[in-house]
Amino acid sequence: MNTDFELNYDFVSPRRVVFGWGKRRDVGILGRTLGKRAFVILGSRQLEARGMFDEVLRWLRQEGIEAVPAGMITREPLVEDVDERVAFLREREPHAGDFVVAVGGGSAIDVAKAAAALATNVQGDSVKDYLEGVGSGLVLEHPPLPVLAMPTTAGTGSEATKNAVISSFDPPFKKSLRADSMMPSIVLIDPELSTSLPREVTARTGMDAITQLIESYVTRVAKPIPRALALQGLALAGEALPEAFHDPSSRNGREQMAHAAFLSGLALANSGLGMAHGVAAALGVHAKVPHGLACAVMLPVAMRTNLEERWSEMADVGTALTRRTWPTRVAAAHAAVEFVEGLLDTLELPRTLSALGVTAEQIPALVHDSHGNSMNGNPRELADDELAELLAGML
Ligand SMILES: [Zn+2]
Repeated sequence: MNTDFELNYDFVSPRRVVFGWGKRRDVGILGRTLGKRAFVILGSRQLEARGMFDEVLRWLRQEGIEAVPAGMITREPLVEDVDERVAFLREREPHAGDFVVAVGGGSAIDVAKAAAALATNVQGDSVKDYLEGVGSGLVLEHPPLPVLAMPTTAGTGSEATKNAVISSFDPPFKKSLRADSMMPSIVLIDPELSTSLPREVTARTGMDAITQLIESYVTRVAKPIPRALALQGLALAGEALPEAFHDPSSRNGREQMAHAAFLSGLALANSGLGMAHGVAAALGVHAKVPHGLACAVMLPVAMRTNLEERWSEMADVGTALTRRTWPTRVAAAHAAVEFVEGLLDTLELPRTLSALGVTAEQIPALVHDSHGNSMNGNPRELADDELAELLAGML
C-alpha cells in the first residue's frame, strides 16, 4: 500500500454514526439528543408513497419531539430550492433546540445542510451569495442548526461531507456551499432503505461512491485517514455494487454499498476529488446529466489520464477493487481501469458522452465549467485544449 503522504492533517466527521439494518426506527431516540423541534426534509415521492414521511414524523413525536414536515426535494438542488427551504425555516424563527432531519439521497441531504446553515446565517438573502466561485464572498458566521442525516441511496456520501452542491441553469453553474460546521451531527444509515431503489439509480449512485473513493485516493491533496477508508470502501464496493444491482433486495450488497458510500463521503470531505467530478459538474449544468451517471462515464477516462502520475496509488486501487494480488504494480494499476470499465458494462451504463446527449458544440462550455474545487485536486494538470481533446474523443 502506498504510504507516500504527509502526516499533517485535519480530519472532520459526524459526531455520531449509527449504522444497521432496520435502524431507522431509532431516529427519535437519536433526535432527542439534538433538540426538541425537528424540521423534516424528504427526498422523493416514492419514499412518501411508502409512508416514510409519516413514519419518521411518528418516530420523532414518540420521543416528545415537535416534528415539522419541511418539504420535499425531487431533483438535484437549484438555488431556488434551497432559498425556499431557508425561507420556510426562517419564518418559523429557528432557535436553540431546533434541528433538521434529512431523509433521502444526496439532494435532500444537501438541501437540509444548506437550509440548516442559512437558517442561522442571515447576512444574505440567497444561498448564491455564499457559494464558492460565484457568490459575493459571504461566509457562515454562526453555527448551523444541527443536522441528522438518513441516507436512502448508497452514493453521494453527502451524509459525511461538509458541503452542499447547488446548481443554477441561468447563469449556468454547479457550486458548493462549504464549511466545516456543515458536517451533519448525526448520521443514521439503515441500508434497508435502499432496497427499493430502481436498478439504474443503484447503478449510478453506486458509481458516484466508487468515483469518490478512487478520486479521493489518488488526488493531489490525499490525506492518510481518507486513504485508509477509501481502500476499505473499494474492497467492498467492487463486489457489492453488482450484487445490489442484480438483486435489489440483497442485504449483503445493500449493507456493503451503504457503508462504502459513507466512507466515500468521509474520504472526499477530508481529501478532495479530481477530474471526473470536475467534468461531472459541467455535465450537470450543460447537459443535465445526473451526477452519478456523469461520474460513471468520466471515471475510466480520468483514471487513464492520471495513470502515469499515480501508478502506485492506482495499483492499490486495482488490488482493492479486484481483491487479488497482481504479479506487478503496473499490472495492478491497469487492472483498476479494466475493472471499472467492466463494471460499467455490468451495470449497463454508457461509456460515451454522446450517449448522454452531449454534442461537439457543447465542449467549450464543458471545458470552461469543469474547473473548480474538484479539478484543482486532479493529479495531472490539464490545459483547456487538452481537456477539450479528451472530451471530443469521448463523443
Ligand atoms: Zn460525487
